[in-house]
Order: sequence, then C-alpha cells, then structure tokens
Amino acid sequence: MNLNEYVGHIHLHTTYSDGVATIEEVVRIANRAGLDFIIPTDHNVLIKGLDGWYENTLLLMGEEVHDQQRQPESSHYLALNLKEDVAPYAQDPQAVINAVNAQGGFGFLAHPIEYDAPPFVEEPNLSWRDWQVSGYTGLELWNYMSEFKNRVPNKAAAILFCYFPRLVMLGPHIETLAKWDELLQDKKTVVIGGSDAHGNTYRLGPLSRVVQPYDYLFRTVNTHILSQEVFDGQLAHDKRVVYDALREGRCFVAYDLLGDTRGFRFTATSGDAGRRTSRAIMGQEIALQGEVSLEVHSPRRADIRLLRDGRIVARRSGKSLRWTTSQKGVYRVEAYRPFLLKKRGWVFTNPIYVR
Ligand SMILES: [Zn+2]
Ligand SMILES: [Zn+2]
Repeated sequence: MNLNEYVGHIHLHTTYSDGVATIEEVVRIANRAGLDFIIPTDHNVLIKGLDGWYENTLLLMGEEVHDQQRQPESSHYLALNLKEDVAPYAQDPQAVINAVNAQGGFGFLAHPIEYDAPPFVEEPNLSWRDWQVSGYTGLELWNYMSEFKNRVPNKAAAILFCYFPRLVMLGPHIETLAKWDELLQDKKTVVIGGSDAHGNTYRLGPLSRVVQPYDYLFRTVNTHILSQEVFDGQLAHDKRVVYDALREGRCFVAYDLLGDTRGFRFTATSGDAGRRTSRAIMGQEIALQGEVSLEVHSPRRADIRLLRDGRIVARRSGKSLRWTTSQKGVYRVEAYRPFLLKKRGWVFTNPIYVR
C-alpha cells in the first residue's frame, strides 16, 4: 500500500485565547518546524475564514470547549471540522459532542486523565470527569504540557526541568493508556497527541522563563497521518485528507524529539495461501481468515511492543517486528527509545481491529 505521511500538530493556543503568539506567528513557526498541518484549538472560540495553506503548512482551525464557570474546571473537548462555534453548549459535555457531530465535525477528549500537580505549579487538574458521554471520536492520548506539569515533584526539579525539559518526558500516563484499552473493548476509539502550547512565561521567585516555546513544542508530540491521497493544494480536498485520517485513526502519536518517526508503519495481512488476501493499516479493521500477519516497521531502532487487548503479546528491540496470530482482538503498537538513562515513549499507533 502506497501511503503518504503528513506530520501535524494538534492542540495549541494563540492570542485568540490564552496563548502568547498570534496566529501569524504560529504559522511561521510551524513552517520553520516543517509541519505539514497545524490545528490550533483556542478556548471556547471558533475563528472562521483562516483555514488554508500558508507556505508549506496547512492551517485548520479547531476549538477547545469547556464550561468556564465549572469548579473544579474539567472536561475539555477538542472539536474539529467545525462550521459554527460550539461554545454556547459548553455547560453540557454531551450537548457539545452532539452539536459538533450535528455539523459534521468530530472530536477528542483533551488531556483526559491528569494528576494533581503540587500547589506551586498553580495548574489545576483538568481531567475529563464526564465518562458517561458518547459520540466522541477518541482521546488525546498524549498531551505534552499536561505530562510536563504532572511530572514535576518539587521546586528544585521544576527549575531543572524548565532548562532541561527532555529529562521529564516519559510517555502518556499509564492510566490514560489503560482507559483507552478499556474503551477499545467496547468501541473504536481513536487517539491523537498534542502539546497544548501556550508559550507562557513562568515565574519562580526571581527566575522567569518562557518554558516550552512554540518552536520547541512543535518538535515534540505530533500526530502523523497516513493517506493514500496526496495533498494537492486545494483547501477543501486537503482538509478532507487530514480530517478523514484523524476520524478513522489512520494516524500515530509520535514524540519526534527522540528521533524522527516518519516512516513508522503498522500493517496487517489476512488470508490463507491461495485465497484472496486483505490488508489493513492502523485505524482499520481486518477480517480474520485463517491467520493474520501483523508487521511493524520503524525508521529507527526501538523497543517495539505489540499489544492485544491491552496486553503485550510480542516484543522486540530493532527496526521491525512480525507476528502471526489466529486470535481476534484489538492490536496496537508502542515503541520506546532510551534517552538519558530512561526508556521513553516514542510512538503509539492507533489499533488494527482483527474481527
Ligand atoms: Zn485543555
Ligand atoms: Zn488546551
């Protein structure tokens, strides 16, 4: 299968809400970072008329919706492919999801599981607290800023981490991975990754520093989409290429700072010898005919783990892994790479559903 891969950055903030960079600056930085597309998601506002190509980056505007009166603040929803602002529905998460779907949009639960950060961090726990909802596309599996603030144990570490953020990142929270596996037993659930970039300056006593500027974050947790279609420069077409891939889960979450993940693939083939074979890539279903062969190819050496229904069934260090099975289930791949004495999350693929 000949696939085109596009690297995108989803979930960031601009001066349209609480980010420090204007949309023009953000687009310029995204171009410099080599991103194929970006989807800013400002809080409770949809900016219309900006979608389009800006040099080599496709800009698509989304919205992050939540009830700003609610205490504790919680349940942020990333809404994509919107025609109209859905903030008027913010008080009711299910109403938000319904309003998004009714206009042909789709969405993801943002930073669904967070820990309580120490008080000096001054960042609330913004977990999703309305798990009874339905109709959403999936989860933001890995949110860079969410992980960062959740892994700061004390002030000394906070100062160190602000100067050496690469010490911090380990991967999505294990609780989020477990929740995803639980949801997958019920229904298809797509995951994406993002940074939640704001470009804010943090102060700690006399120290003040822009922790995590946009140009740094755009090289961290990205979402890579796979499509048989090629961008042709036409907004309507290219928008559909991005949104179809995200909606269907033809994408993987990648921490590109640990090594460019472009070229990472997870595929399946099914069919007995002599019979018609079928193929699938991440995000797709495949019918079990005799056996299914699952293959992982990585552009760099990694600790590659294949999971079925949330449990590791095969593991290999290297650039590939091949596994044959006659068992139905939800198969997904995690890859880790070592950096500064720790194994760190690098790639998390959407699943192949063997039915
Ligand atoms: Zn949020
Ligand atoms: Zn956000």
